[in-house]
Amino acid sequence: MKRVLFKKLIIVMAIALILTIGLRISSSRSFQFYGNILQKVETQDKVVALTFDDGPTELTSEIIKILAELDVNATFFVTGKELEDNLGAGINLVEAGHELGSHSYSHQRMIFKSPAFIKNEIEKTDQLIRQVGHQGEIHFRPPYGKKLVILPYILRDYDKKTIMWDLEPESYPEIASDRKKIVEYVTENVKPGSIILLHIMYESRSESLNSLVGIVETLREKGYSFLTLSQLLKTNN
Ligand SMILES: [Zn+2]
Repeated sequence: MKRVLFKKLIIVMAIALILTIGLRISSSRSFQFYGNILQKVETQDKVVALTFDDGPTELTSEIIKILAELDVNATFFVTGKELEDNLGAGINLVEAGHELGSHSYSHQRMIFKSPAFIKNEIEKTDQLIRQVGHQGEIHFRPPYGKKLVILPYILRDYDKKTIMWDLEPESYPEIASDRKKIVEYVTENVKPGSIILLHIMYESRSESLNSLVGIVETLREKGYSFLTLSQLLKTNN
């Protein structure tokens, strides 16, 4: 009787361990089982990429204007659903010289989903991104940064890179609520090849949008220039 209990206990502990490791890997910025995952680019050049997740939304035209005044081209990981609802905004982003990447169609966690579901999310979004005029590779960034086994495996089949980030100032609430602190955080932690993640497509993130001028001006003073993700990837050395 005791041995049976002991065996059960071992099994429960093993399952708990596997789940813990799995969840940690699914959120890891730099590890996945298959394919190409990128947190930052290895380069000696003082170059970085600004990347924005979600949208496009009705704020897109204001964002395009701000980036044009700063003379910066950025990369937008859009969701297929929002792009479908705002095709004009997508066209305007491409025409303004920004890069589009895929952030899935419906912005759900891509873990514990069937391969068919994930493939549909990728293909539908890619089709919309092509429809608004994006040329070249379409990189992928998983919603919530979540991936496990199936997503990376499928992305490898599509020959897609998983693009993460190395700077996420908004993950700290006391920083996210203050544009000056966002600028400070990015300036202090930036490295050659950094990929900066911000959410600027929603009103709730106005401090992020308002931090752009400060980020660009301060990093330029430090000798950095801004590239789209595909341009940044080419500096890999
Ligand atoms: Zn997102």
